[in-house]
Amino acid sequence: MAKTPYDMAVAQLEKCAKIMDLDQNALEILKYPKRVLSVYIPVRMDDGRIKVFRGFRSQHNDALGPFKGGVRYHPDVTIEEVMALSMWMTWKCGVAGIPLGGGKGGIVCNPKEMSLGEIERLSRGYFAAIRKIVGDNEDIPAPDVNTSGREMAWFMDEFSKYKGYNVPGVVTGKPLEIGGSEGRTEATGRGVWVTVCEAAKKKGISLRNARVAVQGFGNVGLYSALFLSQSGARVVALSDSKGGIYNKEGLNVQAVADHKSKTGSVLNFPGSRNISNEEVLEMDCEVLIPAALEGQVNGNNADRINAKLIAEGANGPITPEGDEVLYQKGVMVIPDILANAGGVSTSYFEWVQNLQNYYWSIDDVRNKLDDLMVKAFNNVFEKASKYQVDMRMGAYVCAVDRVVKAMKLRGWV
Ligand code: NAD
Repeated sequence: MAKTPYDMAVAQLEKCAKIMDLDQNALEILKYPKRVLSVYIPVRMDDGRIKVFRGFRSQHNDALGPFKGGVRYHPDVTIEEVMALSMWMTWKCGVAGIPLGGGKGGIVCNPKEMSLGEIERLSRGYFAAIRKIVGDNEDIPAPDVNTSGREMAWFMDEFSKYKGYNVPGVVTGKPLEIGGSEGRTEATGRGVWVTVCEAAKKKGISLRNARVAVQGFGNVGLYSALFLSQSGARVVALSDSKGGIYNKEGLNVQAVADHKSKTGSVLNFPGSRNISNEEVLEMDCEVLIPAALEGQVNGNNADRINAKLIAEGANGPITPEGDEVLYQKGVMVIPDILANAGGVSTSYFEWVQNLQNYYWSIDDVRNKLDDLMVKAFNNVFEKASKYQVDMRMGAYVCAVDRVVKAMKLRGWV
């Protein structure tokens, strides 16, 4: 039988457990989510019919704090995928060192084939169906694939109606006007940049004039590239789903972003040469940032990767086979649960601001995020050195160690 994402998540946990000689009782608890709720949501469609959608919310572990994690809308959502993603959120929060646990939600639907009204009714129906297990001190959802501030505003409104007063802290990723945080949009890319700066110091790479290639020029790719170019690196290659561009002197990242919003792609940017996506990945460069899709660096192409340092902006862009080849080649990989943890960390800041009802400036948010990411990177680096493993396993050990210490102190094990 094919392996589900949940089987993969458990296999990774078991590998980590072996490395750190983890207490078997703790492992037994961590292998399963604490709770998974499955709901059926009746929605009145525009043609008058009622259609029933299936949704899930998985709460993996809350030893460190309330469950936290996005809600995705996609036809391929499965209960196993949501369970796996909730476990990965436990590790991401653990690596970031924030007092939150792991959760994830999803609805099996294709929002691209639904009207705005249908999506709103589905969103409100989903939140009404899970409202007994979420709350600003219990479980705090956020945007994920095909959801954004728009859905979060509906979730927050639905929950506030149920409570009878405003509860902005029940979700994060909200629009600024209703309790969102400054700096959230740029946060994941900024976090990638901070971890690259720290890794470059360890590898003895000077970022001034260092050549950077970025695959994927969406939210994460754009801000990673912007912050890196602002700190003196040369972003020589960029790509989106249509292909890539190259300029050996370095691209003007903001001008490429303007070109993309005008033309719909980075291709044909004046002063650059169009190249393929493979050429971007295999670029001769110091830093590579895969910030698009899963499985991009794998057993087939890892030996052709020329970067000295890779920061996983996307979730899961390197396969286990790819990892092995890169480790043998001495390439440092900053794993996704560390490199892109700036997003969830700023969600944590948003939640703190909501609970205090006191809002911070962009400089406050940036300073706090930078401190948090530097600390997280160095903790992971230390664990990787201590156990003589790659940074991915270092990050797992770091996260599992934190969660298990909390579980033991609370008497769960
Ligand atoms: P996005 O939709 O804004 O951008 C994705 C980009 O990838 C687009 O520019 C798209 O054109 C490009 N792309 C798609 N297929 C491609 C291909 N074959 N080759 C090259 N480029 C391709 O998404 P995003 O928010 O930037 O997220 C990117 C990744 O980062 C995802 O894996 C996501 O889960 C992860 N992530 C995002 C955040 C966040 O805060 N946005 C946080 C953590 C992790």
